[in-house]
Amino acid sequence: MAAVTLGPDELQRYARHIVLKEFGGAGQRRVKTARVAVIGAGGIGSPALQYLAAAGVGRIAVIDDDRIDPSNLQRQTLFAADDVGMPKVEAACARLAALNPHVEVTAHTARLGSENVGALLGDHEVVLDGCDNFATRLIVADYALAAHIPLVSAAVGQFEGQLAVYRGWEAEKPCYRCFVGGSPETPGASCAEDGVLGPVTGILGSLAALEVLRQIVGFGTDGAGTLLLADLLSLRFRTLALPKDPGCRWCGDASA
Ligand SMILES: [Zn+2]
Repeated sequence: MAAVTLGPDELQRYARHIVLKEFGGAGQRRVKTARVAVIGAGGIGSPALQYLAAAGVGRIAVIDDDRIDPSNLQRQTLFAADDVGMPKVEAACARLAALNPHVEVTAHTARLGSENVGALLGDHEVVLDGCDNFATRLIVADYALAAHIPLVSAAVGQFEGQLAVYRGWEAEKPCYRCFVGGSPETPGASCAEDGVLGPVTGILGSLAALEVLRQIVGFGTDGAGTLLLADLLSLRFRTLALPKDPGCRWCGDASA
C-alpha cells in the first residue's frame, strides 16, 4: 500500500485513537485509506456515520432515498429540526463534512436494488447495512457474499437490537443466509409499525461503527460468526455463536 501519512491536525484529532496500542498510528493510517458504504441514513446509520466520519474513515458512501420526516428526529441524531423535508443523504453529508473535513462523504439518493447494488457497493471494502427492510438486506447480503466484502449488519425494533458480521466466503464463517435462510418473510417488522426507543438505535448504530472499524483495523477478537442480541427492556446483552450452515445454498458446500 502506498505510504499514507497523517498531518499535524490529524495527529491531534485522532490522538485518543493513536494512543491505543491495539489501534495506534498504523490503525489510523489504515482507516484513512478505507472505503465504507453505509446503507440507510436512519436510526442505525445516523450514529454509525457520525462515528465513522469522526474516526477518519477516508471515504464513506451514504445510500438512502428518504427525506427527513419529523418522526425521524426522536432517534436520528444526525438531523436537526431545520432539516425536515431534505433528502437524508444531503443533510448527512453536510453534517459529516462539518464534523471532519478529512473524510470524503459521497451521497447517493437511491433506493438500493438488485439493478444498482454492484454500482453502489462494488468499490467498498466494508458494507454497513442499517436499512429498514428485509428485501434490501437480502440483496445487500447476497452481493457482499459474492463480492467478498465484509458485511456488518445491524437491526433494531422496539427495545431490541441485533448485530452481526458476515464473511460467508470464508470456510468457517457464516453468510447472512445461514442465519435467515431464503424466506423473505422472516424479520419483516418495521419501526413505523412497531416503534423503537431512540437510544436503542444509538446503541446498535454505535456497535455497528465499532465492528466496521474492527474489520478495517483488525483489533481484538473478530466478530464474524457471532450474533449479538441486545434486550434493552431488561438491559441484557447476549452473544451466540452463529455457525456456518454447511448446507447453505448461498455459501455452503451445496453452493459449490
Ligand atoms: Zn451461508
